[in-house]
Amino acid sequence: DDRIPRIASTIRVIQDFPKPGIQFQDITTLLLDPRAFKDAIDLFVERYKDQNINVVAGIEARGFIFGPPIALAMGAKFVPMRKPKKLPGEVISEEYSLEYGTDKMEMHVGAVQSGERALVVDDLIATGGTLSAAIRLLERVGVHVVECACVIELPELKGRDRLGDKPLFVLIS
Ligand code: IMP
Repeated sequence: DDRIPRIASTIRVIQDFPKPGIQFQDITTLLLDPRAFKDAIDLFVERYKDQNINVVAGIEARGFIFGPPIALAMGAKFVPMRKPKKLPGEVISEEYSLEYGTDKMEMHVGAVQSGERALVVDDLIATGGTLSAAIRLLERVGVHVVECACVIELPELKGRDRLGDKPLFVLIS
């Protein structure tokens, strides 16, 4: 698909951010190109539109950029998966491990119902820890996670392996 290399060409790599040795994949430059942004959203919508997905779960923060346009195009609801203490209502939470220490992800109680079908969206998968926490959170309340979708995968970190049998779809690897 000739849209993929065009999307890839809009992503900027910033050296040593947020710390030395990291090559940060910056999707904000993709957002500056309306054609590339639309192509990225369209590619996801084309893949999922006939899969009876009723929940798009977006991971803070950049899953909040790509998730809502996908949800709107599919007639699905959008559910934010947030960092601790951001959501005002009652939450359920799931811990996950980082390089140093742990973090938590939270979702509003009642946002999803048992038996619903979800797509989990983020900008990038590195080790897969973040997406696997989102999957656990949704599955704990009986939601079927159909697939995870990201713009970018860093394959050398083998994040895909951490998702178990959950399929992962990415635009750029
Ligand atoms: P993981 O949990 O190791 O897979 O890390 C993925 C999470 O970290 C996602 O929420 C990403 O937004 C963020 N992340 C890690 N590296 C990058 C990067 O190079 N660019 C943008 N986001 C990143």
